[in-house]
This record gives sequence, C-alpha cells and structure tokens, in this order.
Amino acid sequence: MDPDKQKQQYDHLKGLDRCVRCGRCKALCPTHGADPVEAMSARGRIALLQGLAKEKIRPSGLLNSHIYSCILCSACSGTCPLGIDIPEAIYQGRALLRGSDGKRTPLRYLTRLSIKWPDIAFRIARMGRHNLLPFLVRRGLIPELPEIPEVPLRKTDQVFKTHKKKRGRVAVFTGCSVNYLFPHFGESLLNVLHKLNYEVVLPKGETCCGNPLRTLGLEDEAVEQAKKNHRVFSRLKVDAILSLCPTCTTTIKNDYPKMIGKGLDKAMDISAFFSDKLEPLPRTDNSAVYHDPCHLQYMLGIKNEPRQIIKNAGVKLIETDDPGCCGFGGLYCMSNKETAGDLMQRRARDFTGSGADTLVTSCPGCVIQLSRGIKDRPVIHLIELIEEAYCFRGEAQERLF
Ligand code: SF4
Ligand code: SF4
Repeated sequence: MDPDKQKQQYDHLKGLDRCVRCGRCKALCPTHGADPVEAMSARGRIALLQGLAKEKIRPSGLLNSHIYSCILCSACSGTCPLGIDIPEAIYQGRALLRGSDGKRTPLRYLTRLSIKWPDIAFRIARMGRHNLLPFLVRRGLIPELPEIPEVPLRKTDQVFKTHKKKRGRVAVFTGCSVNYLFPHFGESLLNVLHKLNYEVVLPKGETCCGNPLRTLGLEDEAVEQAKKNHRVFSRLKVDAILSLCPTCTTTIKNDYPKMIGKGLDKAMDISAFFSDKLEPLPRTDNSAVYHDPCHLQYMLGIKNEPRQIIKNAGVKLIETDDPGCCGFGGLYCMSNKETAGDLMQRRARDFTGSGADTLVTSCPGCVIQLSRGIKDRPVIHLIELIEEAYCFRGEAQERLF
C-alpha cells in the first residue's frame, strides 16, 4: 500500500482518541445485540482500532475477526456525540489490516477479478450456476445467489426516450446486483419512469460503486472505481441519478466525498424520487410489511417515503416492532453465517407473525437474504410493487400478490 495513504489511515484512527466510552454507539449495534460482548459492539471495535493506531495491539487473526464482524450497517452512524464516524473508521481499519488478513485473500482475489471483468464473471456464473456457484457458496466465497438471469440489464450506452411531453431526464446507477442478478428490477424501474414520461439514461462506463472492495479493505481499488463512476455520471445532464440499491446510493453520494473529495450529489433512492409523483390508488385486499434496509434508514434518512408509496398503491401496510438488520451486509453473511442467520430468522419470524401477504423492501441484498428465510410468501423490491400498481393493475392484477 502507498505509505502516504497508510499514514493517513493511521492518522484517521488516531482521531478515535476522542472516544469517551459513553456507549451510545453500542446501544444500536446489531452484532452486540446478537452476541453481547464488548468486542462485538461499535464501542469495542473503536477501542480495538485505537489500540491498533497506537501500536498497543498488533494485527492478528482475533483482531481481524472482530473488525470483520461489523456488518457495516451504519446503525451507529450519527450516534456519537463527538462526531466519530464509526463505519468510516472500520473501513480504514480493514484497509490497514488487509496485509495480515490471509483468511479473506481468496475472497479479495475473486472480488477484484469480478469487478475488473464483470461481464466475463457474469458469463462464468451463468455457465456454472449448477456446479461452480454451489461449490463457491459451500466454500464461503460467495453468498447464496438468486437464479442467474440470461442477460444483464445494461448493454451499451442506452437512452430510453419518451414519446410524450418529456417530464424530465434521469440517469440510473444500476449497481452490480441489479445489473447482473435482478435485471427485472431495473426493467420495472424503466417501465415506471416511462409511464411517468421521463427520459432515462443508462450510461456506458458505469462500474461497481466500490463498496464491496472497501468492505474487504481494498481502499485503493475502491478509489479507482469511485473516480471512474464520478467521471461518467458527473458529466450527464440529468435531474437525478436513481438507484435501486441503498448501499450504492450511500457510496456514490456520501462516501465518495470521503474517498475522492467529491460525490454524486444528484444520487437518490427511488422512494425519495417517487414519493411526490405517485397518486393514491383505490384500496386493494393486499397487505405488506416493509423492511427498512440499514443504509436507507441510517445513511440516507429514508423511512417514511416507502411506507407512503405502499399506502398510495392501495396496499394495507402492517407495522411490526422493527427487528432491525436482516444480516446480509454484503460479504458479512458469508463470514459471519451464524449471526447473519439469527438476524435473518428474527426478521422472518416477525414478518410471518404479522399475517401480511408480502414483505416489501428497497434493497437487492435484503431481498437475497430474506428470500432465504421466507419461502411461503413473496419478498419483493419496492419497485416491483410500484410497477404492479401503476403500470399493470387491471391488466395483470395477480402479477405480484
Ligand atoms: S456499523 Fe453496524 S455492526 Fe458495525 S459497529 Fe456500527 S452498528 Fe455495529
Ligand atoms: S458514541 Fe462515540 S464517544 Fe461514545 S463510545 Fe461510541 S465512539 Fe465512543
């Protein structure tokens, strides 16, 4: 690693000296809820990283396992009265520990290759969906994935024009999960935007937002992705950059300024964009529970908008006691299977007990994780519900419910 960068990372962690051990960050930490020992809490991880910065604690397998046991859910974000950015400290800590973390070397290798040659990785995944992928899942190198689609969403530079009076022009940051695993979510978004008379751009050159690299301590590689995406998206003349993945939105909007000094300010979650554009529809017999994705609620501050959209779509919204994170956390669910499984089961039980027909969420990762635990009723992305209500209802009433 670049020595200047390494020094910056140590300096960043030295700022953790401000911590007064008040424990406010610990109260919301889901890993501490699942395993109540100090090292499994936000405060405990801050103390460990302080020790690393002061060279009182040396890198070790045990230290790595505690720093990698963080879901990076951001529930602790904004809780610190002294303004310590805990998730950012975890990213920087992982970058410093990368050299001593042999356990995740194969995962780093695979992640780097998939991000460098995503279309080749996609074709290999498609061909190996019955043998290679189950093998990689068993080895803990990838999470369980949905059925690999025949083709991804993005092909080349695509502009979808509207034939009616144009209401505006938006770009879509598809993100890897929507592009390669859930292209039908992207198609639903295109349908809804078309229905609302928006011109839509899917620009050539979009690459991974960089978050999976950061979670593995590959900070320099993540910075390269950030620079590429910023170049592609900042020159577009659009009203908004929409994403169906709150982690992508958080990364390109909130994290890029920390990584490259400038973010994509027009990035928005779809529920914020659509909240004032979808008229109330007549009530149906359908009911839903909404699951809040961590990055959407903690980093983007969005909780009410998806709920209002569900109600406007004529679906009865059933509120439950919020059981918190689903346990996906990108790569977290592979390296911390037990805790991730417990968190997922808690959410699944809460949903099943509600009696609702459908679980709606706004994150492809939450859809992957919750679909593993909920088999008897649909787990869908909010955009599917919006599409069904505003594009198909009457023509295909039974499509989702
Ligand atoms: S990001 Fe989530 S799991 Fe990690 S320390 Fe903060 S609250 Fe705990
Ligand atoms: S909230 Fe801030 S000061 Fe309090 S324990 Fe957490 S990091 Fe330390």
